[in-house]
Amino acid sequence: MKEYILCKYGEIALKGLNKSSFESVLTKNIKRRLSGIGNFSVTRAQSTIYVEPLDDSCDMDEAVERLKKVFGIAKLTKALEVEKSMEAILCDSMDYLAEAFEGYSTFKVNAKRADKKFPFKSPEICAELGHKILEQFPGMRVDVHEPDVTVTVEIRERHAFINALKIDGAGGIPVGTGGRGLLLLSGGIDSPVAGYMIAKRGVVVQAVHFEAPPYTSERARLKVEKLVSEIAEYCGDVVFHCVPFTRIQECIRDKCPEELFTIIMRRLMFEIAQRIADKEDLACVITGESLGQVASQTMYAMVCTDAACRMPVLRPCIGMDKAEIVEISRKIGTFETSIEPYEDCCTVFTPKHPKTRPVLDDVVKAQDSFDFEPLIAEAVENTEVKVIKKFV
Ligand code: ATP
Ligand code: MG
Repeated sequence: MKEYILCKYGEIALKGLNKSSFESVLTKNIKRRLSGIGNFSVTRAQSTIYVEPLDDSCDMDEAVERLKKVFGIAKLTKALEVEKSMEAILCDSMDYLAEAFEGYSTFKVNAKRADKKFPFKSPEICAELGHKILEQFPGMRVDVHEPDVTVTVEIRERHAFINALKIDGAGGIPVGTGGRGLLLLSGGIDSPVAGYMIAKRGVVVQAVHFEAPPYTSERARLKVEKLVSEIAEYCGDVVFHCVPFTRIQECIRDKCPEELFTIIMRRLMFEIAQRIADKEDLACVITGESLGQVASQTMYAMVCTDAACRMPVLRPCIGMDKAEIVEISRKIGTFETSIEPYEDCCTVFTPKHPKTRPVLDDVVKAQDSFDFEPLIAEAVENTEVKVIKKFV
């Protein structure tokens, strides 16, 4: 008798020929995420991944917490492996079910037989276990329509599995199956959410942050690194690039029209991001922009920034309200860090009246009046890179 964790896929189950490569990436991600909390074996069978503790050092509760953040898992559950006999199913499952029933009052039993040779049919298994539960747990009633807890008995090849604790997984598809991208990460609320959303669609995310010391502080940088480690719970280890942006900002301030400051700054951010993306073999840039949120996020402003970018710009928050973005940031645990009050380079030298309808030609002309190339090259050259891990 042994406790396992079963992970059920969501969308991967729908993949045809590619399914096994998705499964193998997911298995690898799970193994990586469990490192440091015990010796686990991770195997797959019948669209389920079995996480088996190999010794007493395994922290099963921490394993569940970590697996809840692995993309590609739709549901997970602790499950009990018992001997494949009716007797064992009835007797050995009671302690496990006592935990599952805590705080609940109704249940139903579901049985699935992968092994059709098992001498009891599904309805018999349900009836027998149902009776036993009613006997043992006087507080529980049967409700076949809307039970609080569904107890599932699966008769597999070698063992029977009993599970009752269905936990929602992170959904999405496994990180590493959808290419690689570069997240423009500020210290705000939106960009960590954007990174989470794109990683959820299978993309390996690296992050780039532009800082402007001494206008921005060391603590602002530490805050961003903290955000990176928070999204790393979902994304896996994140390569983090920190670009010194002060000289470029000062030059835009000194050489370009004030009302175009923000838009030119953003174009230069994209230019630098692309060079980093090229070096790191990343295929897109990702931002937390949301249409109409601020002057630099009008459609016209985006036309001007996109013109500076050869790569696709993914903006997963584009159609979301701030309240919806906040809701996700609370859910993934970045909100409290995002609202720490440190300055971002974007708030340095911001014009009082930024253009909400910039015209691309004017912007390009203004930008071309000064040769930014040496400064861009210098910023890329002096970018600091480090890998930020959530788990060792
Ligand atoms: P956020 O909440 O993500 O900071 P925001 O609503 O404050 O977004 P802006 O400051 O206009 O909006 O930034 C828009 C996007 O540009 C951000 O979501 C982020 O992707 C990128 N960005 C802004 N500032 C920086 C920065 N200092 N470093 C890297 N990317 C940045
Ligand atoms: Mg911001």
